[in-house]
Amino acid sequence: MLGVPLSIVGFGFAVGLVIGSFLNVVIHRVPNGLSIVKPRSRCPRCEQQIASFDNIPVLSWLVLRGRCRNCQLAISARYPAIEFGTGLAFAAIVAVHGVSPMTLVFWIFAALMIAVAGIDWDEQWIPDSLSLGGLTVGLTLVPAVQGLLHGSYPDALLSSVIGAVLGGGLLWVVGFVHARVSVWTGREFAHWPGEGEEIPRPSNLDYWVWFPGLGFGDVKLMAMAGAFLGPVGVLQVIFLAAILGLVLGVALLFVCRGASTPFGFGPAIAAAALVAIVLPLPFPG
Ligand SMILES: [Zn+2]
Repeated sequence: MLGVPLSIVGFGFAVGLVIGSFLNVVIHRVPNGLSIVKPRSRCPRCEQQIASFDNIPVLSWLVLRGRCRNCQLAISARYPAIEFGTGLAFAAIVAVHGVSPMTLVFWIFAALMIAVAGIDWDEQWIPDSLSLGGLTVGLTLVPAVQGLLHGSYPDALLSSVIGAVLGGGLLWVVGFVHARVSVWTGREFAHWPGEGEEIPRPSNLDYWVWFPGLGFGDVKLMAMAGAFLGPVGVLQVIFLAAILGLVLGVALLFVCRGASTPFGFGPAIAAAALVAIVLPLPFPG
């Protein structure tokens, strides 16, 4: 069925579990500007440092039945879910792309996307260190690896740049037009403009980069997706993310009674990107 031995896929799953455990730390600490390296993780209530044997991805959570060993504080099921999800994503990527440097590149991309999804879900914003950092990594790494593999560095660089400009550009156009039409029709938003702020004018930077319902962080994130996936891949991501965002928005509308529940578009973009890595559209030509 797969061209890749099951042991390799299992190895990918194990790597994903460990990286997923690290992503939980990233999701918690990066938005607060904390170090992701130290200190070691502690229980938020009893401050007990979490022992290595209680920090085994998914398993520890199951063994401890989702509670702190010391004070019994409930630990969110999201921790093992992110670990398991990252494991699945890494396994799927190596199953599709095989033992290749591109698998490593896509592992990095998937890890960035999962971190962004978690942070955007919690905070409704995306740190530049991840989106712009990821854009830089994509523009550098993808052409370099493609150049080494196929001797096609200039073509691959062009593909990454076009993907980034197309992805970021299309999302910017959507956000900008939506913002202008909203202003024109007098539509009101709960958080836009902010309390006591005027609607931005063309002389303000906000006029160009601040949109209701779509943050500029999403524009930067889509540029990053384009750098990794190229123009065809990024169009696939935009299309999938729009459908997912719509489904997610409608679902939240029904689940949470407040119609104004804010949610970032980031998780939809991240999910769409993971699909595009594993099920890429065939490149024409
Ligand atoms: Zn505790």
